[in-house]
Amino acid sequence: MASDSSDCIFCKIVAGEIPATIVAESAEAIAMRDIAPVGPTHVLVIPRRHVEDATKVGVEEAQLLGELFELANQVAQAEGIAESGFRLVANVGDAAGNTVSHLHLHLIGGRDLSWPPG
Ligand code: 5GP
Ligand code: ZN
Repeated sequence: MASDSSDCIFCKIVAGEIPATIVAESAEAIAMRDIAPVGPTHVLVIPRRHVEDATKVGVEEAQLLGELFELANQVAQAEGIAESGFRLVANVGDAAGNTVSHLHLHLIGGRDLSWPPG
């Protein structure tokens, strides 16, 4: 897995080098549809700058995290799932099935998400 921005697929999407269906944007973050959705709504909310994963997030990223959550909430409203409920997930490492080493929140909704996930 890439640990820097030079060979990072999400950095390439941010740079416009790889196409993506972007549904919302802010100064520091973008939201795009996942290419392999696991629900009617499956959007990835990512920082524009390369942050490897949640283990690299601390109080210094407070502004960035706020923007990620704000954008996720905005998309949930636009997708009509804010009232019914949704899931926000940040996977870390192999056991969680983390495949892209660029911080992202999965915003999943539009179906029953009773825990544990299927
Ligand atoms: P992870 O398992 O790392 O938490 O999730 C990575 C997610 O990125 C997966 O759900 C996968 O389908 C998605 N993904 C991988 N490559 C691309 C891509 O090129 N474009 C988009 N939009 N999503 C991708
Ligand atoms: Zn990156």
